Amino acid sequence: MGLTEYRKKRRFDVTSEPAGGKTPRGAKAKKLSYVIQKHRATALHYDFRLEWNGVLLSWAVPKGPSLDPSVKRMAMPTEDHPIEYAKFEGIIPEGQYGGGTVMIWDNGTWTPESPDVDAALKKGDLKFRLDGRKLHGSWVLVRIRAREGGRPPWLLIKHRDEFASQTDIAEAGPRSVVTKRILAEIARDEGGDIVKAATGDPPSLIKKLLKQPDLLAPPKRSRRKAVWHSNRAGS
Ligand code: MN
Repeated sequence: MGLTEYRKKRRFDVTSEPAGGKTPRGAKAKKLSYVIQKHRATALHYDFRLEWNGVLLSWAVPKGPSLDPSVKRMAMPTEDHPIEYAKFEGIIPEGQYGGGTVMIWDNGTWTPESPDVDAALKKGDLKFRLDGRKLHGSWVLVRIRAREGGRPPWLLIKHRDEFASQTDIAEAGPRSVVTKRILAEIARDEGGDIVKAATGDPPSLIKKLLKQPDLLAPPKRSRRKAVWHSNRAGS
């Protein structure tokens, strides 16, 4: 664990993603944060990230989370990310690692329901509660057997509780929880590939916006690193 793999994959003189502090911040915060970033890279996926031990533990969920407890969503483990990554929304330049458009699709705090998180991660069965803008209630990440030679995938599953539902949350909540933009609007504002980004937005919504372009969010001033830098300026 740690940020070595994360940094090795990226060129911070080219991408506006954060490099992360030299020493990971200690896990002293009372509440642990989580973020889900919708990422239209080579393929669309949702990066599910839980703050733990000063980094963001990360899984790539191709179909995104489902509120239906009978639906198991594949979650491929990826490298730990720096805590500041939770604030990143914008464009990763094409040709760079993960090139494409990134949206902060959900965020909030999480609470372990497994008594010992490190042991649960090692065992591959982490139960937790999410208190976010879109996701709530009890969930589990469970590791399953790897196919020949590969990294073992995990499954992200909603537990049965009052927040379980048949609603397709990806379809019902397609916008950034920070800027309210869809992927196409983020790409437009920040110099990304709008057509590619739009393939990650719900087709019905894109159709509606093409019919009534006045429903599009007014363009933000074109500053490629807008979200990331505006956050840094305040700190
Ligand atoms: Mn990603």
